[in-house]
Amino acid sequence: MRDIPGAWRRTAEGAGLLASDGAVGTTIFAEMSGLAATTGAINLGQGFPDEDGPDAVLDAARRAIADGANQYAPGRGVPDLLAAVAEHQERFYDVRLDPATQVLVTAGATEALAATLLALLDGPDDEVVVFEPFYDAYAAAVALAGARLVTVPLHWPDFQPDVDELANAVTDRTRVILVNDPHNPTGAVFTAEVREQIVRSAIEHDAIIVTDEVYEHLVFAEAHVPLATLPGAAERTLSISSAGKTFSVTGWKIGWVTGPADLVSAVLTVKQFLTYVNGTPFQPAIAVGLRLPDAFFRGIAATLHAKSELLGEGLRAAGFGVSPPRGSYFTVADAAPVGATEAAQFCRELPARAGVVGIPLTAFVTPPHRHRYGTLVRFAACKRTDVLAEASRRLALLQR
Ligand code: PMP
Ligand code: GLN
Repeated sequence: MRDIPGAWRRTAEGAGLLASDGAVGTTIFAEMSGLAATTGAINLGQGFPDEDGPDAVLDAARRAIADGANQYAPGRGVPDLLAAVAEHQERFYDVRLDPATQVLVTAGATEALAATLLALLDGPDDEVVVFEPFYDAYAAAVALAGARLVTVPLHWPDFQPDVDELANAVTDRTRVILVNDPHNPTGAVFTAEVREQIVRSAIEHDAIIVTDEVYEHLVFAEAHVPLATLPGAAERTLSISSAGKTFSVTGWKIGWVTGPADLVSAVLTVKQFLTYVNGTPFQPAIAVGLRLPDAFFRGIAATLHAKSELLGEGLRAAGFGVSPPRGSYFTVADAAPVGATEAAQFCRELPARAGVVGIPLTAFVTPPHRHRYGTLVRFAACKRTDVLAEASRRLALLQR
């Protein structure tokens, strides 16, 4: 391949834009969904639901298009959505925000993350502390910003970090601590001790906390705790979320950033040159969603919890070791007991052997640390129960 300067060079350094071992230019999600499509396997790889979200939200988008909400939205977002995000933060977390200055609508959490990191990072002297494994976009965005990724390992089977390792990773070079809770790919929800250490380290080293809370309403048996609600955190925290998971509209790409006005303005400065604005008719529809009654939000957590348990039972019955998730779409399983020696190879063969697609955890890990997660596979539970039951039946065939 031609040596393309810039992004590809950073790819090699940061492992950020690498799809999976050796493949450049395609994310692991696209690769595995492609494999599911060509083999007809059940796709428990890329995390997207196979059922539509609430009618009230879908109808509101249709109405908005019919009513002519089809041109550029205001730069920060449609005012009704800015207000709905602020109301949501107060209703669920008792966080008060000025919708005009402390909320910014983005093209999904992905753009929010990219714009935030590009806004806050200034080259190779700036470090970003992330927990590893991490959502693939993190290393990519840090690489695009030309900054350095510093990883803190999460440990099988509960995927909590060691608080001393966390404390040691954060230094005066740390510009950002990037925290995804509930966590993709592991399904972990961080303990209170870990949350407190993150904030303590950020204050001690004057770092900014950036949170990715896209699974905030998919926490199974406890309340979600945003880091911005911890003492001393709000003034140094940018909180990111999005509508995709909560309302089963991953294709709409409506996300948001909230936090101190000066930090939100810095993100806006970059964001306006990435997409400028997006999703005008979807924005009022998400405002409708964010104002749905509590029963809706309780219902989606309970439904996904039940599905995750069903998937976990199927994986255990098939012989996998299972890390029970506390939230998110995902369940991590150890495929060593069913004969795997290398997760990426196992996942490439799984469609032919069992008619199921999963994602090797090594895809979310920098190359030097892949051995730690060598036989672990991420499976998505956000599918119809009949699909999960059929996947379990197929996985059981692996033992024969
Ligand atoms: N962060 C995490 C942890 C995710 O799992 C995802 C994927 N949905 C995103 C960010 C991206 O969200 P969006 O689709 O809103 O860009
Ligand atoms: N967030 C989804 C996942 O982790 C996929 C998003 C994507 O395809 N980039 O599976």
